[in-house]
Amino acid sequence: MSEEKRAFAYICPSCGKSVYGERTQFALAAAAAGLVCDCGNSELTAEPAGDHYRVTVPCGVCGGEHRAEVPAGKLLRGPGVGLACPETKQLCCYIGDPGKVQAAARELEITVQKKKDAQGSFVDDVIMYEVLSEIKDIIARGGVSCTCGGKGCSVEVHGAAVDLVCPACGGRLRVPAGTDEDLDRLCCQYTLTIRGRK
Ligand SMILES: [Zn+2]
Ligand SMILES: [Zn+2]
Ligand SMILES: [Zn+2]
Repeated sequence: MSEEKRAFAYICPSCGKSVYGERTQFALAAAAAGLVCDCGNSELTAEPAGDHYRVTVPCGVCGGEHRAEVPAGKLLRGPGVGLACPETKQLCCYIGDPGKVQAAARELEITVQKKKDAQGSFVDDVIMYEVLSEIKDIIARGGVSCTCGGKGCSVEVHGAAVDLVCPACGGRLRVPAGTDEDLDRLCCQYTLTIRGRK
C-alpha cells in the first residue's frame, strides 16, 4: 500500500478551533485512529469495521457528538467525504484528500465563527421567523395533536429547531428550523403529530 496521506478535520465544540490531522492510509487500515484537539476537550475517532469505518465526530456546529458509518473506499481513497450534522444539516467534518480537507476546514471554521459572532440570535433569523409563524398557523387551525390524545402544544425555541411539547404527557416533536428545506418541509404539512410518552 502506498504512503498516501488522508486528512481529517472538524471544529472543536469546546474551543471553536478547527482541528486538522493527517494519517497514512496504512495506519488507517491497520487500527483505529484518533484526532484530539489542542485544548484536549474533544476527539474524533475512526475505527475500521469491515468494509466501512465507524467515525465519531465532536460537532462544532451543534455542540453534540455524532456517529457515522463511512465506506472504507471513500475514507481511504478519492477526494473524500463531508459529514453533516444531523441536527442542523450543516457539514461539521471532512475526511479525505489533505489539500481539499484543509481548504474545506478553513471555510468551516469561518462559518462556525460567524455563527458564534451572531450568538444570541438564531442560526437563520428569517427561516426561524417563518417556521414559527407557520407553526402558529398550524396550531391556530387545531392541527397539532399528540398520540396520547392531547391537543395543542407549547412551543420551545432552540438554536436551529423548535420543539412542540404536549401539555398532557410532555411528549416532544422537534421541528428543524435551520434551512430553506426545513421550511419547505413544514409548509407541506397540514397537521403535526407529537409522539406521546404514554
Ligand atoms: Zn478544542
Ligand atoms: Zn451537530
Ligand atoms: Zn401527549
